Amino acid sequence: MIRFKIPNHDWALVARLSRRPDALKSRLWERTTGPIRRFKDDLTALLKVEQERRCAYCMTYLHEDHPARDHIAPKNIYPAWTFRPDNLVLACYACNTDRKGGYDPIDVRHRRYRRCGFKIVHPYFDRPDSHLAYRGGGAKRGILISGITAKGAETMRVFDLMSPERAKERAADAIFADAPNRLQQRFLDRYVSVVQTRAPLKPAARIAPTVF
Ligand SMILES: [Zn+2]
Repeated sequence: MIRFKIPNHDWALVARLSRRPDALKSRLWERTTGPIRRFKDDLTALLKVEQERRCAYCMTYLHEDHPARDHIAPKNIYPAWTFRPDNLVLACYACNTDRKGGYDPIDVRHRRYRRCGFKIVHPYFDRPDSHLAYRGGGAKRGILISGITAKGAETMRVFDLMSPERAKERAADAIFADAPNRLQQRFLDRYVSVVQTRAPLKPAARIAPTVF
């Protein structure tokens, strides 16, 4: 995980939506038109950039066009925080639905969101590297992860971060993400070496076909 900056959203709109009655917020969230639609679309666009299109929890690449928006503190338990940008991240299906589900990440409740105690590493408030240690690919593409605090260990447990299939998924993701750069570099090296030989352009056969 890496720590994200809170998306700089249209705060007037956030304040307006947050003033709506809590009992209505869950239903409002489901709307697909008007200011709700704009809020959700803008937020997804901002988060895609901030999160470099990676899941906030496991950091795998989000291939889907419309990745899930995860309420860190679930909206059915904490409706008041449905529209808080610092309670929203993009997450993969495995983390959002299969693992986190309706899990309540708050162990110390406070009426103010920022004063709450979170059991898992909070993507905006915590420094993930204080709670989690990574090997192989760094914090961005960490393949081997271990929890170094209770919060780190709980994050590992909730998202099942070191199960064989999830570690394998991250390894495959890292290889896939790095490969285009390596291929590009090899092509560039090859191109430079061809140019340096000053070989005449016509006999293309002289340039050995490159197998990447
Ligand atoms: Zn994930």
